[in-house]
Amino acid sequence: MKKIIMAACAATMLVGCANNEGGCNPFLSEYDTPFGVPPFEQIKPEHYKPAFEQGMKEQIAEIEAIVNNPEAPTFENTIVALDQSGQLLNKVSYVFFGQTNANTNDSLQALSREMSPLLSKHGDDITMNAGLFARVKAVRESADTANLDKEQMKLLDETYKDFVRNGANLDAEKQEQLRKLNTEISSLQVQFGQNMLAETNAFRLVVDKKEDLAGLPANLIASAAETAKADSMEGKWVFTLHNPSIMPFLQYAENRELREKILMGYLNRGNNGNENDNKEVIRKLLKARVEKAKLMGFNNYAELALETRMAKTPAAVYNLLDQVWTPALKKAKEELADIQAEIRKEGKNFTAEAWDWRFYADRAKQAKYAFDENEIRPYLKLENVRDGMFLLANKLYGISFTPIENIPLPHPDAEAFECKDTSGVHLGVLYLDYFPRASKRGGAWCGRYRSQTYENGERKAPVVTIVCNFTKPTEGQPALLTADEASTMFHEFGHAVHSLFGDVHYYGIAGVPRDFVELPSQLNEHWVFEPEMLKLYAKHYETGEVMPEELVKKLEASGKYGQGFATTEYLAASYLDMDFHVLTDIADDMNVMDFEQQTLGKRNLLKQIPSRYRTTYFNHTMGGGYTAGYYSYLWAEVLDCDAYEAYKETGDIFNKEVAAKYRKYILTPGGIDDAMQMYINFRGKEPGIDPLLKKRGLK
Ligand SMILES: [Zn+2]
Repeated sequence: MKKIIMAACAATMLVGCANNEGGCNPFLSEYDTPFGVPPFEQIKPEHYKPAFEQGMKEQIAEIEAIVNNPEAPTFENTIVALDQSGQLLNKVSYVFFGQTNANTNDSLQALSREMSPLLSKHGDDITMNAGLFARVKAVRESADTANLDKEQMKLLDETYKDFVRNGANLDAEKQEQLRKLNTEISSLQVQFGQNMLAETNAFRLVVDKKEDLAGLPANLIASAAETAKADSMEGKWVFTLHNPSIMPFLQYAENRELREKILMGYLNRGNNGNENDNKEVIRKLLKARVEKAKLMGFNNYAELALETRMAKTPAAVYNLLDQVWTPALKKAKEELADIQAEIRKEGKNFTAEAWDWRFYADRAKQAKYAFDENEIRPYLKLENVRDGMFLLANKLYGISFTPIENIPLPHPDAEAFECKDTSGVHLGVLYLDYFPRASKRGGAWCGRYRSQTYENGERKAPVVTIVCNFTKPTEGQPALLTADEASTMFHEFGHAVHSLFGDVHYYGIAGVPRDFVELPSQLNEHWVFEPEMLKLYAKHYETGEVMPEELVKKLEASGKYGQGFATTEYLAASYLDMDFHVLTDIADDMNVMDFEQQTLGKRNLLKQIPSRYRTTYFNHTMGGGYTAGYYSYLWAEVLDCDAYEAYKETGDIFNKEVAAKYRKYILTPGGIDDAMQMYINFRGKEPGIDPLLKKRGLK
């Protein structure tokens, strides 16, 4: 394989890059960088396409070699060879998708539209290769399996199932239909995401009168002034639909009309009837998904998606959602009564609307607990929160994070750290990229620029990245996070630690089910506001003082307030995702927004609480990844609340023995076992739902 790479590189050099400008395509040679991270500055948009093409060509050649191998199929010459194929394609894909999410531009967007059907076809060419599937089946049925260890058996099993799930058993005509549907689905998902990004960036709330800023915290005003300046509107204030702008605006702006304006902008993304409207994209997507499910022998797409998850069936998902819905809705109604009381206290008599919720809920919380969320922000300087999460990992597992200078960065705003084990062994590189920009999609996530693997019998460490959209520093003030942002940071770091500890021999078993993957991230959130933890990192950005005990107590007491809203808005989105994907037929004139209204209406969701994501910007489910899977956060929360009890039961939330067990059974072995079995290995029992209900104050 190396030979092919060298040849391609040499050929490129012949056509005019001997002067090293534009140079060889960096994907086609070994990365000559610290820890072998991608040489981001050298990678130009024009490098991706040839690397993708070469990567697919190489993998097809590798597959042909497996199929045409004159020797009888064995685990090594078929299953392992297949697992190891496509290295170049993986290499370019990690960087391409990492960059289209976090640092995109018009040419990457166009290439993404161009590549998605080709990549979909490429995947189908492998899983629908009859000769290859015959060999996989032969290995599965052969005596060879007797000598395999647990990891190898799991790889064999997953490989076989993967073929079946991707249509290997279908007849030729059905396979052709499946290919068409896969291509359509992937193109529509790309289209959905690009429309959403365009719609998020297009909206601006421009304020030109100072009195309209009443109630807003100084750092938000400063940041809005900077945005205005960048938009050539110096002297005004610009608020956007990025979370660090809109969310505090809704919470603090006294001007009710402006709150309504920005919230309506947010809620109608992808629903404006313009060229970025997502309604028809979604209808077509739902139709293609249900057709695919039926082709594969399922009644609907949710059944197909859930087959590989812990939940296994739509009924199990609804069962969990329903158990939480009733107490959550009850709690939300109590909160609404508080909100209405706050409105009356002001001498007003209007009925609360969605754009009033965050504003008056904040006042109600202040009235009940004498707690203003802004009081804690000086203690949540971004760098302190970051160091806090590093320290937590150090206390639990003994690992360390040290800054790396002079290493290529995925974006100039990012920073890099080396993660080392107690023994000093390198575990991986971690990038952190904190702030919103137009080239970045919304939300926060943890991704990889290289996954953990084995090379010549040695563990090759991963390159992990955390990408967020946090409050930016302003002139004269560092980035002071909200409570929510601090939790998010700990959350994504939980995913990162899961990746950094990964130690499996095969790509095919590195992943875990979607509804298990949030266990490590959500477990990590449990520590963020523990008094013992706050003492360690929550230091005032000016005085260096730790958060006063009185404030810690208020934070603790008020911590559960607002769970009615948070839980119902989350459950609404989960129901929406499931309800769309248990449909067995999608009508040609289906209006997805009418469907949304019916689905939420029949569950009596309060009109003041919109779904956490509305259909036209519900990237988790429509963009792919969490399709019929948004429930996963709650599913995993049952696990993480129960898992955290394991620490608390010892009387020491930093208990190293529990952490060692957790690392061994959950964080290290990828998807080596059935997920519930892995959990039981750690905890000694299945989890119950009570710790979750208690944590959310619903019981
Ligand atoms: Zn997560």
